[in-house]
Amino acid sequence: MGKVGDKSYKFFLGLLKTYKNNIIAFVVALSIGLSFIVYEEGFAYKITVDGETIGITKNIDEVKSFIEELHKKEKQKTGTDIVLNQQIKFERVRVSNKELTDVHKIYANLENAMSFSCKAAAIIVDGKFVTALKNEEEANKVLEMLKNKYARDSDRTYFKEDVKIEEKYIPPKYLVSFEEALKILQQPVKKAVTYTVKENDSLWSIARAHDMYIDDILKLNPGLTENLKPGQVIYLSSAVPNVTVVTEKRIVYKEKIPFETKLTKDDKLYTNQSKVLVEGKKGLKEVTAVVVSYNGVEVSKEVKSENILEKPINKIVAVGSRRISYVATGSFNYPARGTITSRFGQRWGRFHTGVDIAAPQGSPIYAADGGTVIFSGWESGYGYLVKIDHHNGYVTYYGHASKLLVKKGDKVAKGQKIALVGSTGRATGPHLHFEVRKNGVPIDPMPFLNRR
Ligand SMILES: [Zn+2]
Repeated sequence: MGKVGDKSYKFFLGLLKTYKNNIIAFVVALSIGLSFIVYEEGFAYKITVDGETIGITKNIDEVKSFIEELHKKEKQKTGTDIVLNQQIKFERVRVSNKELTDVHKIYANLENAMSFSCKAAAIIVDGKFVTALKNEEEANKVLEMLKNKYARDSDRTYFKEDVKIEEKYIPPKYLVSFEEALKILQQPVKKAVTYTVKENDSLWSIARAHDMYIDDILKLNPGLTENLKPGQVIYLSSAVPNVTVVTEKRIVYKEKIPFETKLTKDDKLYTNQSKVLVEGKKGLKEVTAVVVSYNGVEVSKEVKSENILEKPINKIVAVGSRRISYVATGSFNYPARGTITSRFGQRWGRFHTGVDIAAPQGSPIYAADGGTVIFSGWESGYGYLVKIDHHNGYVTYYGHASKLLVKKGDKVAKGQKIALVGSTGRATGPHLHFEVRKNGVPIDPMPFLNRR
């Protein structure tokens, strides 16, 4: 463009060279040349921007350098390669002087009509333009910085979304600084997420839980009605950052293994009794897991392996299967474990109405047979005493107790713990005074006693 005149001139010189020996040719050439010069003085240039005329001028070089200047300024501003979005053409036209446009008017028109695109490294997230920096190095740096923000001591760091850097020509206003890009990438944006309807969900409860309006849920789900069914999948929008940094960290920790409680039957125990045979003990395992976090917030923990260091020991409990009976069997069991230190009958000039069984202070005293407690309290000489009526003419006495475990009116089973051995009342050391009365008269218990 703008070279038509030069070409004509070269053509004229060419003619001059070719026909320099031919005077006629020279004259012809000279006359052409002269007429050309005369003709050229009437020429100007029509400037069009994308086909639209913005002015006519003879000062074409000035206009061109003005355009160059605009280009250069824009390039300096963005710091990247820039391209002009429009096509500017200069067309040589023959016009009268009054048709020429004032050069300042042309400048103003050019500034209005021209726009630039700059070369940028665009960050594309899931196929969508999010932001752009002036070069790939900066774009990479900002993405790395974002990752490092959450990486800490993680084993693997990556973006949840498909994040790409693409070279693109964009309007310069979209070009941002490093800091701005970092901010934009972390900005929350509304994204569509799927939600599976749960039991008792309503549009209202879902809207509330997701910070949405019911109208917006309906807009996202054409045809949706209030009749939600559990398991139904609907769309919701959720505010999530433009990019999500996923970090994975392998962790190893020790965890206790709980034990089980196993029950076994024991016909020696009553149904309301139980006995721990083996105390349970928790085991220990070493767990290797991978913790996954989104932008630093833990979202899942996946156990990769477990190594048992100590097996748990199950607790074993014997549960009584013996039915409780408060009815007397007619025979008596030994009411305490110990040594008989004094028998029934004459003793040091006094009549001993029962047998004494020496046993350690606090050891248990058992009912010799089933029956009803008719006395539980203090009685002179006996100290703390329990009396059991077996409803078969026999009543048994348990004296010198340190502690009473039953009260008057209680039904007791044969072998049930009723008191603890002591030395209350007239006693010189801890022992049980056991007495059997038949129809109110003390008798020798020894012939009745069964070894336990
Ligand atoms: Zn006694």
